[in-house]
Amino acid sequence: RGTTAEREVPFAKPGSLTRVYAVASGKGGVGKSSVTVNLAAAMAADGLKVGVVDADIYGHSVPRMLGADGRPTQVENMIMPPSANGVKVISIGMFTPGNAPVVWRGPMLHRALQQFLADVYWGDLDVLLLDLPPGTGDIAISVAQLVPNAEILVVTTPQQAAAEVAERAGSIAVQTHQKIVGVVENMSGLPCPHCDEMVDVFGTGGGQAVADGLTRTTGATVPVLGQIPIDVRLREGGDEGRPVVLSDPDSPAGAALRTIAGKL
Ligand code: ADP
Repeated sequence: RGTTAEREVPFAKPGSLTRVYAVASGKGGVGKSSVTVNLAAAMAADGLKVGVVDADIYGHSVPRMLGADGRPTQVENMIMPPSANGVKVISIGMFTPGNAPVVWRGPMLHRALQQFLADVYWGDLDVLLLDLPPGTGDIAISVAQLVPNAEILVVTTPQQAAAEVAERAGSIAVQTHQKIVGVVENMSGLPCPHCDEMVDVFGTGGGQAVADGLTRTTGATVPVLGQIPIDVRLREGGDEGRPVVLSDPDSPAGAALRTIAGKL
């Protein structure tokens, strides 16, 4: 008996009404997962049906940040994803025992992503966000093959060195003919708690530099969708599983993230 015939990825079918955004970054630690989770929660709070695929196999921090501690269940031969804060979520971390590190190679990652997209019962989603691993790895190519209509959202910090790697990650879209929806600059300064001044911890200009570079390489205008300041409440929201867009929507980071979500 052979394996189950591979199901189609519903989001890739012509006429699919689900908008798919693949969230990419050049390197880790720039806030890609935090941005993904907050955009998802903000859109769900606006009444959209939202799902998140945590494809960041090395980080897989999305379930914790979303407060999703449920396990996926199996109904017939579909996987039912747990949901939290109004967002359905599936993660590699839900299928590895304990906190075992994932040492999978390209073909297995492709297979896992294929299953997350095709074998998970998502229902009719308005938006699906994919949290990609940092860098220009195999999984970005897999996304392009499995969901060619996915649009890329690039997250960077204002730092020039980070901007260069982020631009490289984004320019993979040129090879795969995907649209880049825009750039989000995260950790854009720390509002001083004692005065009105902004401390530019990671410098300035990275987001705009990435957007300009990607505009040049793609020939299509790539906008900066927004800048998110460094904000303790954002980090706390992630640690507590209650995204800042819900726990403190009018905080500087919460407001910035809600504005970005409104542009997607
Ligand atoms: P990535 O997915 O790019 O590896 P994460 O989203 O995991 O990055 O963020 C890395 C760490 O930085 C996390 O602890 C997160 O809470 C924190 N963080 C991200 N963005 C901000 C921000 N704007 N203000 C404060 N902390 C942040």
